[in-house]
Amino acid sequence: MVEPVKKEPAEDTELRDGKNAASDAPCASEAAAPAEKSPEDIAREEQQRAQMVQQLTTVDGWMERLHDPALGGVGLAFLKAAGSVLKREDIDFQMKPSAGYHSFIYPPKPGQDSFSNYVLYGAEALENAERLMGARTHEFVHALQYQTAAALHADPFNAATNIMVSPYDYLLRKERLEQDAYVKGAWLCALAAADAPDIVKVMESSPLPVSTFQNIRAQSADLTDAFEKAARDCRNLLGVWTKDAEKTVIADEWHARAIDEYERMMKYRHDNLQAGEALTFVRMDGADILEIGASFGPNTFGADAHNKSLTEIENLSPAHAQKIAEIEKKYGITPRDNLPTLSEAFAAAGTTRADFIAHSKAYKGAAASAEKNTPANDTAPAQQQNTGPRPGAPAP
Ligand SMILES: [Zn+2]
Repeated sequence: MVEPVKKEPAEDTELRDGKNAASDAPCASEAAAPAEKSPEDIAREEQQRAQMVQQLTTVDGWMERLHDPALGGVGLAFLKAAGSVLKREDIDFQMKPSAGYHSFIYPPKPGQDSFSNYVLYGAEALENAERLMGARTHEFVHALQYQTAAALHADPFNAATNIMVSPYDYLLRKERLEQDAYVKGAWLCALAAADAPDIVKVMESSPLPVSTFQNIRAQSADLTDAFEKAARDCRNLLGVWTKDAEKTVIADEWHARAIDEYERMMKYRHDNLQAGEALTFVRMDGADILEIGASFGPNTFGADAHNKSLTEIENLSPAHAQKIAEIEKKYGITPRDNLPTLSEAFAAAGTTRADFIAHSKAYKGAAASAEKNTPANDTAPAQQQNTGPRPGAPAP
């Protein structure tokens, strides 16, 4: 889902040293004029920001002390890993989902990073520190996934490349990155329960409640086994995800979001192709999925890159399968089974995974990109992985 990203003056958003270097990059609804805010609005926002800083201090304390019975002091390592890569962590007063990780903005304006790489919290995440802990662990896992998983940069939202995953793989990818984020988030929040017992109750409506993860772990041979079981469990949560829709598994909702994003972006990518330029579509293999699961701690998806189930969507609805076929037809995309893998595309392009990711992270909008088919300022597509239901959807 695209949420408008409001630009805040740099000094107001400088919550963490050095994290705000890219905040001069304009985001979608830059035109939301601060001048229109009433003194009451400004006072309320200041109060909420102060509240967030206070809650983050509490959450930092919980995170630093997380100790896993099998792995030891994982909390500090997690905090350091995410803290060393994120560009920014802030509040978005207009945001409906409780939190979101922003990966790319398309197209980047001249000099703007394509890879935005920041976390925003909506007011809902600030209800209490436990809720913020839940949102933060989940979004930090997304941030870590994007540091090392090449397939997450082979993205239609990423102006740095013309190599992108197929529509099917975009849905598959969304499912795996949400599974990984919910599993690792529930694991870390379960470890916080000693310090913050209320977190169990607060996370009860999550696709993977802390209590569910605790039960799964208690019945598993080891943490790796628990992660694999929990990943299957969270995908199959039943609920009503959009207004008046039938009850369905949450994976269906992830697929619906992914199709929305993919379809919207394909139009821009297609319209912006220069003469002689082409988009290269690829499929993911097992190794690509394992890179996502390697975000932090044991791999959520095991260790077998040849496990066929890694690259198959177990419960793709007929409606979504139909939609994928329509997108393929509309844009002349080869059916997925006949596409090269990401690794094969890298070989053909004479690049490596590491170089591809490095180029993507460093890419900035060129002067010419402003002349491309740029959506209106208030609708510029920014990709983010949200926590919580879509705006207007009933809570799970
Ligand atoms: Zn997520």
